[in-house]
Amino acid sequence: MSESEELYREVILDHYKNPRQLGHLEHPDLVEAGANPLCGDQLEFSLSFGRGDLSDIRFQGTGCSISQASASIMADAVKGKSVSEIEQLIDQFRKMMLEGGSPDALPEELEDAKALEGVRKYPLRVKCAMLAWNTLRLALKKQAGAKAV
Ligand code: ZN
Repeated sequence: MSESEELYREVILDHYKNPRQLGHLEHPDLVEAGANPLCGDQLEFSLSFGRGDLSDIRFQGTGCSISQASASIMADAVKGKSVSEIEQLIDQFRKMMLEGGSPDALPEELEDAKALEGVRKYPLRVKCAMLAWNTLRLALKKQAGAKAV
């Protein structure tokens, strides 16, 4: 294992063992759950929105270390950001995971997300890494729809 692979492994394990933003919000505006049946991963996010931003986020879940670490990394990165900023972060992460984008292209907020680059070698695990981000994207769409009504 190379030095950077070792470092990445440590980042993932750290988020897995000490998840950030773990739990649920008392009065969330939206709760969104996602599952990856291929691996048995489950995540549930509770979200609280301010004026155009995601003021708070918590998650709970079960599943493999990749899915849970990815949720922790994402929750930490998006908390307090505007919805449009978050949509960009999700796009940037997707580019790296699904389109072979360079991890160096990720912004500072996604520093820890670079650790998931190695997962690209394992197509089944990419779904684990994407679960949190896909679930949040769906939640943002719902929130935008709810506002438009
Ligand atoms: Zn998984």
